[in-house]
Amino acid sequence: MRLVFFGASQRKKAFPLRLLLAVLLLLAFSREITTVARPVSRPGLPLSGKTIVIDPGHGGYDPGVVAHGVIEKDVVLAISLKLRGYLQGAGARVVMTRETDRDLLVLPAAGPKKRQDMRNRIIIINAAAPDLVVSVHANAISSTRWRGAQAFYRIDDGEARVLAEIIQEELARVLKNTDRQAKPGNFFVLNESSATGVLVETGFISNPDEARLLNDGRYQDRVAWAIYLGLLRYLGRTP
Ligand SMILES: [Zn+2]
Repeated sequence: MRLVFFGASQRKKAFPLRLLLAVLLLLAFSREITTVARPVSRPGLPLSGKTIVIDPGHGGYDPGVVAHGVIEKDVVLAISLKLRGYLQGAGARVVMTRETDRDLLVLPAAGPKKRQDMRNRIIIINAAAPDLVVSVHANAISSTRWRGAQAFYRIDDGEARVLAEIIQEELARVLKNTDRQAKPGNFFVLNESSATGVLVETGFISNPDEARLLNDGRYQDRVAWAIYLGLLRYLGRTP
């Protein structure tokens, strides 16, 4: 009897303990999201009332592309933070999927890392209910020859195509070093996002010259400015 009673009592204790653990994990998760999703909205400016999510690719355990001493996760975060500054200056509410060198892993044991990281980005994006999403990356291929920034959109999203083409025009105009065209691309972040979005490959880290540029604060600023002008033009156009 005593043993049975003891066993039952242990089970009773185990249940709230598991519940407590689940609540703690949920709290940790929601805190991650609210920390990142800091809404700022300023009235009376060109982008007042607009919400834009910036998704700096990679971070934390995932460096992205690494070549010529340049690390994609650092470059795209620097560009994204500059872009946030321009957008907030124009009155937009900006939500970042990350603001520091971190990934979006909350539950280390729950499935493959990359998938979990990407799913959590989508949760942040869709929770923000944004007008637009910009995912910022840098490219690399085996040849060191290729270079140039390029905007990608989901193939069946006509609005995203318009946005990508406008951003591509601004990249060409501001950076003066690419004649690339906006292209459709099969990217998880674009496919799963509920809002119109583009993925900007800001240049090729595999090209030593472009890697050096992408690591330079002034060049990062110009890339951010070009993307900002594209977003501004897109949102300001009459339908
Ligand atoms: Zn990337």
